[in-house]
Amino acid sequence: MTILKQDIKYLQGVGPNRSALLASELGITTVGDLLAYYPYKYVDRSRIYKISDIDGNMPYVQLCGQILSFESFGEGRNKRLVAHFSDNTGVVDLVWFQGAKYITKTYDCHKPYIVFGKPSMFSGKIQLAHPEIENAPEGMRYEARTTGDLFEQPSTNPNIPSTSTPLQQGQATLPSDEQSAPSAYKGLCPSYNTSEKMKRSGLNSAAMAKLTANMFKLLKNPLDETLPAYITAKYCLMPYDDAVRNIHYPSSPEALRRAQVRLKFEELFYVQLNILRYVKDRQLRYKGLVFSKVGNLFNTFFHNHLPFTLTNAQKRVIKEMHADMKSGRQMNRLLQGDVGSGKTLVALMVSLLALDNGCQACIMAPTEILAEQHVETLRAFLGDMPVRVELLTGTVKGKRRTQILSDLITGDIHILVGTHAVIEESVQFHRLGLVVIDEQHRFGVAQRAKLWMKGAQADGMPSSASSTSDTMPPHVLVMTATPIPRTLAMTLYGDLDVSVIDELPPGRKPIRTIHQFDSHRSRIYELMRRELSIGRQVYIVYPLIKETEKMDMKDLEQGFEEISKAFPMYKVGKVHGKMKPAEKDVEMQRFANHETHILVSTTVIEVGVNVPNASVMIIENTERFGLSQLHQLRGRVGRGADQSYCVLVSKVQLSENTRKRIQIMVDSTDGFEIAEQDLKLRGPGDLEGTQQSGMAFDLKIANLARDGQILNLARTAAQEVIDNDPEERNSQNNVLWTRLRELRKTNINWGAIS
Ligand code: ADP
Ligand code: MG
Repeated sequence: MTILKQDIKYLQGVGPNRSALLASELGITTVGDLLAYYPYKYVDRSRIYKISDIDGNMPYVQLCGQILSFESFGEGRNKRLVAHFSDNTGVVDLVWFQGAKYITKTYDCHKPYIVFGKPSMFSGKIQLAHPEIENAPEGMRYEARTTGDLFEQPSTNPNIPSTSTPLQQGQATLPSDEQSAPSAYKGLCPSYNTSEKMKRSGLNSAAMAKLTANMFKLLKNPLDETLPAYITAKYCLMPYDDAVRNIHYPSSPEALRRAQVRLKFEELFYVQLNILRYVKDRQLRYKGLVFSKVGNLFNTFFHNHLPFTLTNAQKRVIKEMHADMKSGRQMNRLLQGDVGSGKTLVALMVSLLALDNGCQACIMAPTEILAEQHVETLRAFLGDMPVRVELLTGTVKGKRRTQILSDLITGDIHILVGTHAVIEESVQFHRLGLVVIDEQHRFGVAQRAKLWMKGAQADGMPSSASSTSDTMPPHVLVMTATPIPRTLAMTLYGDLDVSVIDELPPGRKPIRTIHQFDSHRSRIYELMRRELSIGRQVYIVYPLIKETEKMDMKDLEQGFEEISKAFPMYKVGKVHGKMKPAEKDVEMQRFANHETHILVSTTVIEVGVNVPNASVMIIENTERFGLSQLHQLRGRVGRGADQSYCVLVSKVQLSENTRKRIQIMVDSTDGFEIAEQDLKLRGPGDLEGTQQSGMAFDLKIANLARDGQILNLARTAAQEVIDNDPEERNSQNNVLWTRLRELRKTNINWGAIS
């Protein structure tokens, strides 16, 4: 469809200035881009309100009446023009803070107008600031109906707050152009998000509506279908042409709903098709190392070294992974398991399987201290077994580093543990068979792909039999304690198979969570004193947010002083991100060794650190943390057999939303439930990683927090396509592959790996 590719500049009503704005503010450069710029909400303009029925709290109202008189008030910046507007049931004030001259010239008293705007109360009177005004059609009566529905949909453009309304103070109402404007009073009208800069140039929602109306005048012929007919039929989807027309100018609420479903489905379908196509290509391109043996190391460990019995969940996930690793395909698996569910042990046992099959394993941790802790844990687990575990981080330098690098190449090191330093090019393995990525939910597809290259080098015999076509990438296991709601996981980690540890080792007492106002310090101190006196340790965590860093640091310092004063008989440590890694490690180590009793810190302790003797987690300024983060922090305690406590400290005055979030934490210790609730309360936009994942195209209309059902259907549909037509031979699917490749081209993240 060539019209869709046309430069937006040539659309009626655009021109060079506006086209520059559209491009810079919204990324719209073609007619097709405008077509895909969907309204963020709709206003029902089929109803005319009686002035006597409206109040200052209604969202939008449409009135029909006449201007009785104009009046000017104030001077300079306070200047405003008021039109007293009546429909025989009452009077409201229409107010303009700008453009008075234009208004008085354009609109006459005692002529019938349709007025549309957001009512508010101003010194006891109802007013509509900068309303839209149109001539009332012939014979229009001041008919009054009472309810007005809004079909609202939050903004999906992160640059534009969803609260922005089409009527902003200071915006000039454009001259109405009856011919090109859609007849506003006839039904659901689109509202488009526009930036402040656009509004200042008169390119507000109403102006955008005129542009989309002009666009549809161009698009006389039906637009080509973007999904094969067998899919639209199977999932009862509205045709594409109907959907885009109805998404801008709904013919009825039902048509709007169906249009939304169709377009959401399509969007999610292509994201899923992208992911699944990628998975299939990966399978076709790479064979997997076959770990058929369950050998000596695994068995010896299992029978003689395991200090406790595995939980059923641990057994199950190990089996799932073993099945992958002997299948002849490369394993790409996500292991989800709440904090303390015993993922490290699983990583070790799976690594032993790699070793039993003549390969090395590599475990990556997000921080140096975690890497160190892993090395210690693994060595302790392994005892006298002939397995060499070494640490490689940025601080391992000089001779030691050289030694480790060369022992890796010869294969003398069996398990390498490190930070992302291990994926540097200088690090080469003898035969890398498994990579475990621990607690790195930002480790996206592109980075994972880098690891496979390691596998290629890992054969260690570049000139030998192994040709590039049967490159053997290592198996990949991504572990996370961050419970990722299903809809997000299907997008962020949609290329991974998922295993879940849904069971904690026996004997753990659920952590007791308490909400406490910061004015009740003495109660918090009481709990601390009690626990400290029986030999336990305490964490106190302060939020640290970039924008408020200075104040946060002050809070932390002050907290440290206060605690030191209040608990003179105990040693207090302090850790924050401003410290050098080595200093941080020393402090953490002191706490782990029980040399300090109370640790005051920022969120640097969030991930993975294991101090089973710590039984109290106090979180200051709870209101500033996300739920998932709170859950992670809480997971630092409750690691031993004793009762542990988490105290969420907040100020007294809390928003409704914050109160709800804190209540969720008090009520639930289930990470998945918390993550689902968090997603609902915050929306997926806030969740980090969506961008980095490199998998999702920008979602314009679908919402991962709300459209789970549609996502499931889309995933099923995409899976069917890949399963039934892996080689892309079915001509009915041509439209899909063409469109997918087009989408990939415009997606930068994707480009990095394909
Ligand atoms: P996470 O999943 O958060 O990484 P860890 O691997 O650190 O959890 O395990 C938490 C604690 O539970 C460790 O001290 C570990 O030794 C212990 N653990 C792991 N598996 C079991 C088990 N099956 N039975 C008892 N304790 C276990
Ligand atoms: Mg862990």
